[in-house]
Amino acid sequence: MKHYLEILVLIYREILEKFKFLTVENSDKSVVSIYKMQLKLNNKAYLYYEIQLLVAFLLFTIPLSAQNKISPFQCGHEYVLSINEQNYSNYREMVNETFSIAYKNKDINAHHRNDIYKIPVVVHIVWKNSEENLDDSLIFSQIKVLNKAFRLQNEDKSNVRDIFKDLQSDAEIEFELKEVKRVKTSANFALSLTGLPDNVKRASNGGSGATDPDRHLNIWVCKIQPIPFIGGQILGYAYPPTGLGNWPDGSSAPSKDLEGVVIDYRVFGLNNPNKLTVNGSTHQSFARTTVHEVGHYLGLRHIWGDGGGLFGGNSCDADDGISDTPNQGTQSPGGCDTSANTCIEEGGNDLPDMIENYMDYSGENCQNTFTKEQVALMRSVLANQRQLLTNTEQSFANQQVNIWPNPFQNFINITLNENIETKVKLTSLDISEIMSYKISEKYMLDVETLRSGTYLLEVVNDKMYKVLKLIKAHE
Ligand SMILES: [Zn+2]
Repeated sequence: MKHYLEILVLIYREILEKFKFLTVENSDKSVVSIYKMQLKLNNKAYLYYEIQLLVAFLLFTIPLSAQNKISPFQCGHEYVLSINEQNYSNYREMVNETFSIAYKNKDINAHHRNDIYKIPVVVHIVWKNSEENLDDSLIFSQIKVLNKAFRLQNEDKSNVRDIFKDLQSDAEIEFELKEVKRVKTSANFALSLTGLPDNVKRASNGGSGATDPDRHLNIWVCKIQPIPFIGGQILGYAYPPTGLGNWPDGSSAPSKDLEGVVIDYRVFGLNNPNKLTVNGSTHQSFARTTVHEVGHYLGLRHIWGDGGGLFGGNSCDADDGISDTPNQGTQSPGGCDTSANTCIEEGGNDLPDMIENYMDYSGENCQNTFTKEQVALMRSVLANQRQLLTNTEQSFANQQVNIWPNPFQNFINITLNENIETKVKLTSLDISEIMSYKISEKYMLDVETLRSGTYLLEVVNDKMYKVLKLIKAHE
């Protein structure tokens, strides 16, 4: 129930934004009556949404004031968490837990600091009208912007204010365009109360199927439609890494082929001739929506920690889990307001909101920075949860666990360097065969009955998260 209401609140916020009620003082009553008028025009959904809205009002009394101004252009991160939570009750916890493990592991991976991770990228252009079939030059420019952002080679990096200069960091992550897939479709890709436009990722639903998502970053570019009758335009969304090792047996949420990033075609690439306009304001794109979404894909959260974000209020208690980003109460409402300081920190250490950060909602022309700790987290994810993506041998160098032989036949031996309760799970690539165990120190898996083929072995405990590819050899 809780996550369902969160979606209602998201919608509620969209409605308020639609009628530009966020910047003026209003009673909830008048908002409701205006909303009713709007719905009467769309009488199809009138009763249904009215009931939902009233429930939301009963449960949430949200004080409105000028400080709660919110950009009409959002990323779909909260929708991803809320909607997936409807289907998998522990989804949000799993995402958070994965984040904690990755963050804990970041220092273990520090000695790989100089490895440059190269991520193969497949771009799917799924188009209905010809303007959605973006030119190659836009795709190339987007890859360039990604590389500049993740190598700290963006020309505007020096615009960062002096107070944040020392935090700026080269992530040493590069993107290599491997393939562009173009699919003409008659389908629409709409956000709804209960679903993300994931049909763009499946050929059978009018989309384009993912290319081996363990080993490629798939980016789908399409026209993202707002929620019918209500609005709620998102610029893009990404699936964050999840604690796949901790899912209940038999579930795979979200399924592998959904992993990746979806971007609206109007904010993809530099100097895109297509413009995204919501309620009369046009989004100024500098191709940084994709940088932001790839940040989520590699484990980053919004810089304000999504505490006040959902409600548009100010919550300095919620944190993004990253130690070197300043505490921020809510998202920036677009623009480049250097005076913004939503959380006052005691003890002379107060910093303003970091509008320069790619994980804020500030104007794209003032975003230029990932911090050192954000970089450490993303690299930790690449060394662990998304290890297969970069295919670097070095990732295995840190031996907290020994696993042999590989290829295997009847047994797999696992030895841990520490006697610590550890969950291991062996999954075939098509997830048809799953074995999971709790082990400590040493264990020998009996795998005699398994078919030959490729398997993923996940090893998870408080100190590590490893995924290894193992092959069952023919007899
Ligand atoms: Zn986001």
